[in-house]
Amino acid sequence: MASRKHTATNDDPVQTGTRPQPGHMPAQHLAPDEQEADLELKPRFMAPDYQGSQKLLGRVALISGGDSGIGRAVAVLFAREGADVAVAYLSSDEDADETCRHVEEEGTRCLLLKGDVRDRAWCEQAVERTVQTLGGLDVLVNNAGFHKHADSIEAIDDERLRETWEINLGGYFRLTRAALPHLKRGSSIINTGSVTGLRGSAHLLDYASTKGAIHAFTKSLASNLLERGIRVNAVAPGPVWTPLNPSDLPAQEVSEFGRDADMKRPAQPEELSPAYVFLAAPACSSYITGIVLPVTGSVGSI
Ligand code: NAD
Repeated sequence: MASRKHTATNDDPVQTGTRPQPGHMPAQHLAPDEQEADLELKPRFMAPDYQGSQKLLGRVALISGGDSGIGRAVAVLFAREGADVAVAYLSSDEDADETCRHVEEEGTRCLLLKGDVRDRAWCEQAVERTVQTLGGLDVLVNNAGFHKHADSIEAIDDERLRETWEINLGGYFRLTRAALPHLKRGSSIINTGSVTGLRGSAHLLDYASTKGAIHAFTKSLASNLLERGIRVNAVAPGPVWTPLNPSDLPAQEVSEFGRDADMKRPAQPEELSPAYVFLAAPACSSYITGIVLPVTGSVGSI
């Protein structure tokens, strides 16, 4: 019997990469004490077809939220490009150890820094330990983030509001302030924004607001640091398969995660990390500062 050619339907996830990425997510909610290691469908962070070419050789990067998800994928690719990596994280020791193991397998050094970005003193210590242990600091990736869906603005009390802002924007401010004395001409700061900061999000009112603020912070800081030769850019991801959403959404909604992107699937972290390499490496982006780079799986930029 002649084989029948598969015809794409409107429901099929769009594939454009070197290997097909998962289109349907499992209906799995993560409990508060669970982490990336507990996800049934493991996020893909290895970017197996990405060849390093020493674009970050001899550089030192500090990545907040580097234990899992996007941050983990960035840590691995930075290491593949020759950077030593400090991985800052809140609590998921098993995830952090796994990230560190992969960084070291790429042939560079990894430093784990456990603590809360709401704590100014800890942010300062994290930077100091990076500089003392790894010999400097060239790239700061502000990436630690928190969100919790809420049906209405009335469901977000002041405590929640403060928590979201203190982690998402406050953490970026504090780590940047601590890092700046060590950054020099050619250094780079990369902030993780979000498509929700570009488009808004009906059920992430506080979170989307912080992401819009992060985009404004990125552009403002880029202007402020221009004369010092330090570039500041943001990446605005669309839906990405990481612990963030399964920790927040009910299982049934997790199974639909990413279906509303034009590509009808979420990104895997390995589809985000090359954008961070691009913005970190002077060889790629020495003439780019103050941009918000959308990596959204949807057509166009906003
Ligand atoms: P993730 O859960 O893997 O990473 C978030 C990390 O933030 C955690 O691992 C944790 O270490 C850190 N963190 C949270 N609260 C902290 C605190 N108080 N102090 C220190 N660290 C803290 O999820 P992810 O999706 O990789 O998230 C990384 C970034 O990407 C976040 O800024 C998030 O807002 C952003 N983002 C994610 C998506 C998505 O769909 N996953 C989309 C757009 C933007």
